[in-house]
Amino acid sequence: MNHYTEIHPDGTRAYQFVADTAYVRESGTKGEHKAAEYILKEAEKIAAQPGKETYIQTPRMELFQCPDFQEKRAELTICQPYEKSYRVRAYLNGACTPAEGITAPFLFVGKGDDISLSKAKGAVVLVCDPVREDMINKIKDAGAVGFVTVCGTPLDQGEDRTPIQYRRKACDLPGAAIHYLDAVEIVEKEASMCRLNIQQSEISRNSANVAVRILGTEFPEEIVTVTAHYDSVPEGPGAYDNMSGGAMAMEAFLYFAEHRPARTMEFIWFGSEEKGLIGSQNYVKSHENEMGKHVFNLNVDLAGQLLGGNVLGVTADPTVCAALKALMEENQLGVTIKNQVWASDSNTFAWKAVPALTLNRDGFGMHTRHDTVEYISPRALAEGAKTLCTAAAWVANEPELSFEREIPADMKRELEKYFAS
Ligand SMILES: [Zn+2]
Repeated sequence: MNHYTEIHPDGTRAYQFVADTAYVRESGTKGEHKAAEYILKEAEKIAAQPGKETYIQTPRMELFQCPDFQEKRAELTICQPYEKSYRVRAYLNGACTPAEGITAPFLFVGKGDDISLSKAKGAVVLVCDPVREDMINKIKDAGAVGFVTVCGTPLDQGEDRTPIQYRRKACDLPGAAIHYLDAVEIVEKEASMCRLNIQQSEISRNSANVAVRILGTEFPEEIVTVTAHYDSVPEGPGAYDNMSGGAMAMEAFLYFAEHRPARTMEFIWFGSEEKGLIGSQNYVKSHENEMGKHVFNLNVDLAGQLLGGNVLGVTADPTVCAALKALMEENQLGVTIKNQVWASDSNTFAWKAVPALTLNRDGFGMHTRHDTVEYISPRALAEGAKTLCTAAAWVANEPELSFEREIPADMKRELEKYFAS
């Protein structure tokens, strides 16, 4: 029986957690450090309750270095048939141009189809939508010397006209993002020559994970993790992505602090997820010698808005999905279960052979300045936390876990590819 609702029926405590940290928390910045201190203090309050010291370890901060990139210069000037400079942002983790920039023909190639790209040799190409590694490689194979991609919408005004900064792996062409309305002007005016100047450098940021461990009563040598990242992108305060997930992980910690589990549970708030799952990768590396004891990872990423539906993205054997389906039906918790790899910290655990899932809810404003606490609902937080606690209680307390522990071979291959690039 799940007693979660007896402890926090209305989600107001979880909402306060999100409201208290409603500032930008980009990896390595003061905002991220401040949020880490806040989370540590909240965990300490719970751990310090009388009698808890016998089975709750002292909450801790695990420091690590997060490799990153810094934009030094990002300029796009159309030189023919008119002259104008546009506001662009560099694709980080990509190449620089020579210091003086590159002057080259400019070509609009739609969404990067083969026919349009057949004329791209030696040109800087404009592609609709942000591009991923496959498209960057396609552009490169076509002989293009740089690329510009389109972001935003025609409805944007004021601050929203700022192009988004992308950070893409294995991108070895200089690239930039431009706003939709500027791209329209460029295509309308049939730009044919440009100068692109992209300069960036590698840097290292100080980041941290916050963690606390509850020792299990029956199977203390088996570990279940409940995780959520607390960093945000630089564009916005990340209430939905993902302080709401962080709040739900704290609710789960509170619940299991009151209802001591059979297995050992570790609650972890990851830094630097938005830089490429750096916090979780640091965790599995620094805890390498005990990863064999990890039984399951329950991660939360994207949570807390009222309209939307809960999804469990399960990166594990299909027998895990079947067990979760039965559990959610029994508890009448509406969820969609998807059996696939999930682009969040659960991937890191699955990659290390630990069955994993991410609890995820669709919503508004991810990776924008509109991802604010005003769109977060205490009710959605309470319901999400209940779903999280229900799944976590099952995996932390069931005497015998009746699912296949092995990660399916196709997912293993996908994860290898995901972490290799
Ligand atoms: Zn996220």
